[in-house]
Amino acid sequence: MSSTTRRTRAALATGAMALAASVALLPGAAFAATPADVAENGGAARSSDDSTQALLDSVQAGPAKNVILLIGDGMGDSEITSARNYQYGAGGELPGIDALPLTGQYTTYSLTKAGKPDYVPDSAATGSAWATGTKTYDNAVSVDIAGTPQDTLVEIAKANGKKTGNVSTAEIQDATPAVQAAHVAARSCYGPDSVTQCGADALDQGGLGSISEQIIGTRADLTLGGGSASFRQTARAGQYQGESLFDQAADRGYQVVGDAAGLGALTAADQASPVLGTFTDGNFPTRFAPSTATVGGADLAPQACTPNPARLSTDLSLRSLTEKSIDLLDGDQGFFLQVEGASIDKRDHSADACGQIGEVLDLDEAVQAALEFAKADGNTMVIVTADHAHTSQIVDSTPPATLSTALLTTEGSTMKIAYGTAAAGGSQQHTGTQLRVAGYGPGAANVVGLIDQTDNFFTIVNALELDRDLDGLSRDGTISAPAEVAPGTDFTVTASGVEGDRQVSGVYTPASGDPVDLGYVDVVDGVATFTVTAPTALGAGSVTLIGVQSGVELRADVLVAAGAPTPAPTASPTPAAVPGGSGTGAGGAGTTASGSGPLAFTGSDMVPALLLALMLAGTGAVLVARRRRRSVLDHSGAQL
Ligand SMILES: [Zn+2]
Repeated sequence: MSSTTRRTRAALATGAMALAASVALLPGAAFAATPADVAENGGAARSSDDSTQALLDSVQAGPAKNVILLIGDGMGDSEITSARNYQYGAGGELPGIDALPLTGQYTTYSLTKAGKPDYVPDSAATGSAWATGTKTYDNAVSVDIAGTPQDTLVEIAKANGKKTGNVSTAEIQDATPAVQAAHVAARSCYGPDSVTQCGADALDQGGLGSISEQIIGTRADLTLGGGSASFRQTARAGQYQGESLFDQAADRGYQVVGDAAGLGALTAADQASPVLGTFTDGNFPTRFAPSTATVGGADLAPQACTPNPARLSTDLSLRSLTEKSIDLLDGDQGFFLQVEGASIDKRDHSADACGQIGEVLDLDEAVQAALEFAKADGNTMVIVTADHAHTSQIVDSTPPATLSTALLTTEGSTMKIAYGTAAAGGSQQHTGTQLRVAGYGPGAANVVGLIDQTDNFFTIVNALELDRDLDGLSRDGTISAPAEVAPGTDFTVTASGVEGDRQVSGVYTPASGDPVDLGYVDVVDGVATFTVTAPTALGAGSVTLIGVQSGVELRADVLVAAGAPTPAPTASPTPAAVPGGSGTGAGGAGTTASGSGPLAFTGSDMVPALLLALMLAGTGAVLVARRRRRSVLDHSGAQL
């Protein structure tokens, strides 16, 4: 058959082909076969006669303004193929996933704690790999094999002024979304009640807190998924001890939504008012009702998948969440958005072919939404990949001793799927094969060839031109405070230019007496503002603000004087980094700061350590005040 004939056939194709053509990203898309012509010479071909120019056209150098990373959890080539066969036919195309023009393969192995390869990874290690660029052990959430936290794409993008979003159909504490927002040794450390699972990571053990608590603290502009049950738990320690995590999020400025109407009503998602949307207690219900694989099941009459009556409304589908996220994040700053279709993996574990196929189709619709935006925007990179491969295999005959299912595809053919890595009732296993990674847009050529999962981190960092030196992003921070205040009056102390931090802690050192912990406040667009009530005792004191993540210190002297003017609402900035450590000072981690009050700063490391101790030992009266970003402190009988 001549190429002209092939092109003519392609032009007549309908259905999935038309959808693919509407995206029009890949030359092969116009040549996908239909069931009617696959038996003819060239009829099943997907490629054009010469894709050279189209491929060259699809290669664009970075940078990119926006990046959308879509993850199919457990979506190996077998899961992609079975979903395509079922819904669009063997010669058809998944209109989202198959439309990305640049594809490669990546290795996904994790590590043992001793640093040896673990050939079959879990979602925690694999997510950590692309979120941080560091391979780690199974169960680890964005810590390395030694347990050291690694900065994540969401944290880095946010520090660089990008907007950030994290979307999943799983509990938002599940490993894949958690890797962008938390650092824990064990992925099951979901909430304050996960006492055993959290261990040393719990707040009351001096750790960074559970995944749910860290999600609040990381403060992505937008977090959408399941998992509300953990947010109903109550903090056991720290500044919000005794308060539910939902209340804590609201106190910290979040827009907390729990249904489609609430999500639909949102018009903004930013650092001042980030969005926390959780729509189910646990994972989202799947698109299709489960099919049950049995020993000998592929010999039964093939079945069609049926809708799951428990599925959420379409305005909470993964496509809808992706579209809403893009609407809320798109703007001058640019954004990084991670979207996960979670239950491909979970249904594969359960040997549920229909369940996993429906979730691939759901993800594919989200990919279509991302590509539609990226194509119109022209400055967005889209990457579609998975975290690890999984069990399901498309087989030719019914395996005698393992679980299998027969499905009736759109072509009227029977597709047998086998699950051979666990017995009936057990959890099917992940597998260790390399995975497809596909890209579109500026910088996406970096997915081509054989790469590693950690390459995704660097591809995205480079495309967005992110500065990974987060401490450095706070090093030029400044502090502003009034030079004099009247006793007993409120005044404002502000740290500015501390984008590398997510929280800033404060200590007030009075003229005499013990230093007083001011707690911490969230950094919003590089600014952290404390409201402090001056003590009634006169004299020279100081306020020290410390970047919780960077350790950068900023200090301002504040004289409590009778007859001092009531401070203006916005105090004038005082210069940072006065040499010698007296007066106002700014120092990076490792620089020495000194103080003259009862709290003698002998090194920058001492202050965070003291603060941590103060926070952990904080009293209820002080904590209530902090929640309102005020620091009306009663220490040693003197109101501050
Ligand atoms: Zn899994």
